[in-house]
Amino acid sequence: MLLRLKKGLPQRQLDAVLAEARGFGYECKFLDEGRQLLALSGAPGRPEHRSRFEDLVGVASVLDAGDARERHERAPGRPDHVVRAAGAVFGGGVASLIAGPCAVEDVTRVKEIAKRVQAQGATLLRGGAYKPRTSPYSFQGLGRAGLEMLAEVRAEVGIGIVTEVMDPREVEATCEVADMLQIGARSMSSSPLLLEVGKAGKPVLLKRGFGATVREFLLAAEYLLSTGNEDVVLCERGVRGFDSGVTRNLLDVGAVAHLKRATHLPVVVDPSHAAGRADLVRPLARAGIVAGADGLIVEVHPRPAEAHSDGAQAISVDELAQVAADMRALLDLDERCFATQGLERASA
Ligand code: PEP
Ligand code: MN
Repeated sequence: MLLRLKKGLPQRQLDAVLAEARGFGYECKFLDEGRQLLALSGAPGRPEHRSRFEDLVGVASVLDAGDARERHERAPGRPDHVVRAAGAVFGGGVASLIAGPCAVEDVTRVKEIAKRVQAQGATLLRGGAYKPRTSPYSFQGLGRAGLEMLAEVRAEVGIGIVTEVMDPREVEATCEVADMLQIGARSMSSSPLLLEVGKAGKPVLLKRGFGATVREFLLAAEYLLSTGNEDVVLCERGVRGFDSGVTRNLLDVGAVAHLKRATHLPVVVDPSHAAGRADLVRPLARAGIVAGADGLIVEVHPRPAEAHSDGAQAISVDELAQVAADMRALLDLDERCFATQGLERASA
């Protein structure tokens, strides 16, 4: 491991760094005359060591973590980790489509949407029973009643379910209906929730907080991974930009391309919450796949004007068909495939 110490460090702070390093079993060697670059060797590195050094007041930065690799980091040459949830496959050259309403509002309507998105190749139905809303007076979701509706839809339509959980006390009940648990942008940094969801052992869709750096996003994933659950899918849904007059958020396609290199975890793109308007969903969905995303999560509603939340960004099922067709074509260019293509070929 290689540390950069602060310049002109008081002896006490320097001693504290050296004592910590020796306590972990490292031998310490300064690489420069100014005694700022400190190389540590002779002991197996651990992610906890790196975090401890980052917390020490005398350490400016950890320049190289050596073999103290965090669980999300892609080791050299490591292939993608493939996450499967119901019929969906994310990673390893396979991409999946998740689609559905923002919120579960009415069982007949959700059933209709589920059948129609499934016919377009969606392998997971999205829909929140618990809605994280900015105002406490906005529609908060139907809660347990919404979960029951999702269970009914799952049983009748035979599509997998991904739904958001906001409260650690609701994880168990949500697991009874969900094939994949969603952690929303507003909850990304809630470590008690991350740990509880990780421990549930189901695949997790982790959305990036709208003010979170890529490093913070990856460390939120690290909380999930630290429970021993490896099935984490990262979701880029746009960060807060300066021009919300045009798009609701700024889709960070650079982060998608970066994440595909930095981690073995699959990455999906949510063009709906990035755009905030239906007419931009299709081009942002295309951009996400071209940047390397292993899937899309898209909000769909047959009557957006009647939706209790996010109606402005909901696309129709016909528009979803175009998104799915784009996805197939763009994946093909990359020699990747759409999750249902294997099934289609097998049944052809
Ligand atoms: C959602 O998926 O409906 C949602 C609330 O998304 P986000 O957490 O990304 O805002
Ligand atoms: Mn929404």
